[in-house]
Formats: sequence, C-alpha cells, structure tokens
Amino acid sequence: MIVAERKPFEEIKALVKDFNRVLTVGCGTCVAVCLAGGEKEVGILNTELTIARKVDGNPIELGGVTVERQCDMEFLDELDGMIDQYDALISLACGAGIQFLAERFPDKPVLPGVNTTFIGANRDVGWYEEKCRACGNCCLGLTGGICPVTMCAKSLFNGPCGGTNHESCEISPDQPCAWHMIYERLSKQNRLDSIIEIFPPNDWLNTTPRTIVQPAYKERKAAR
Ligand code: SF4
Ligand code: SF4
Repeated sequence: MIVAERKPFEEIKALVKDFNRVLTVGCGTCVAVCLAGGEKEVGILNTELTIARKVDGNPIELGGVTVERQCDMEFLDELDGMIDQYDALISLACGAGIQFLAERFPDKPVLPGVNTTFIGANRDVGWYEEKCRACGNCCLGLTGGICPVTMCAKSLFNGPCGGTNHESCEISPDQPCAWHMIYERLSKQNRLDSIIEIFPPNDWLNTTPRTIVQPAYKERKAAR
C-alpha cells in the first residue's frame, strides 16, 4: 500500500490561511489504513483547525468527507454539488489522489494535508516499512524476495559493495546489509545460483511519468 504521514499542523494551517471555507477530503483506502488520511483523521484535523483559527480570531468554516478512493475518478462523483460551497479543499490522500482531486476540480485550490512517503507494508497497526520504490523492472525473483533497490543504501543490483560489514550496512550497524540478507535467504532456499546471475543496468523507468494500459482495457475499447 501507499504509506503517508500527515503534514505538521502548522504547515497545513499556513496552507489554508487565506481561506475561510474549506472542505477536507479523506481517502478510505491506503491512507486510512496507515492512519494518515481516513475519516478519523479528517475529523481530527478539522477539530484542530477550528480551534486554532478561533484562537487566532479568524474563524474557519470546515466540511469533511471521506471518499472510497481519491485515485479513482468514479469515487469523486459524490463530491459534485458539494465543492461550490468551499473556497479550497484539503486532500488527505496520497499524491496520486491529491492530483486526481485537483484535476477533477481545477477551479479550486487543492492543498495537500499529507506527505506521501513510500510503498510499504503493514508490520503492525501504526508501524509501516518501506518495501518497494516502483522501479518498474522487478528483480525479486533473483534476490530471494528482498528488494535491493529499497533495502540497499546504494540500490545495488549485483551483490554487495565493499562496505558490507558481516551482517550490517556501512551506513549504520543497525541497518542490515541488503545483500547479506539476500545471500542468507537464497542460501536457505538452495538458490545461490541466482546471486551470480548478472542483472543488466536498470532503465530507472520511475524517473518519468508512466502509464499502463492493460490488454483487457484495449480489447474493451476496441469492441466499443
Ligand atoms: S525491484 Fe523494483 S519493483 Fe521490485 S520491489 Fe524493488 S523497487 Fe519494487
Ligand atoms: S553495505 Fe550492503 S546494504 Fe549497505 S550499501 Fe553496501 S551492499 Fe548496500
């Protein structure tokens, strides 16, 4: 899932300083799971903003709504008819959701209420770990299911650097060396042959915006 963190309160407060009627829009999917931007967080932020602006002698009128997914246009339909009452929107979705909301309502300022942090996994409620940087050319089949792009400080694809120190990375004794973990995992699986296979230079497809159109979509379009 996409993991995000709410922005510091003072930053959000500064973003809305010029607006008096603001709608906070949460997202019910990834950011709700990681406790950054779901229904509960919409309520908390609105309460904090209401109090802060009252104390400042500059009251604000706030609305709150949480859609199923902000990264899906069809779930934004329910906001039609609501938006006109507000000067600006705060989005608590990930960067994709914020941009979809801004695209859908281009006449309204859409302000980010969260920082999108990484693609990660849920270790426990409130504890999330980065797992993938969406490099677009997944090598997990050769690395025992451990991502060297994310876990190695240098994102090395073909074995450890000279700084590996037994089990640790040279950046910190607390940071395990990704390539040590990959070696151990492949060794347990009797797949150490994989480690000597050379992974070609990566294209780093994640440096420009990408679009995926699945074959099923093309077929559906062609049949229309
Ligand atoms: S190799 Fe690339 S796609 Fe695979 S988990 Fe790592 S960053 Fe993600
Ligand atoms: S010590 Fe290991 S994890 Fe750290 S940069 Fe070198 S190979 Fe990567």
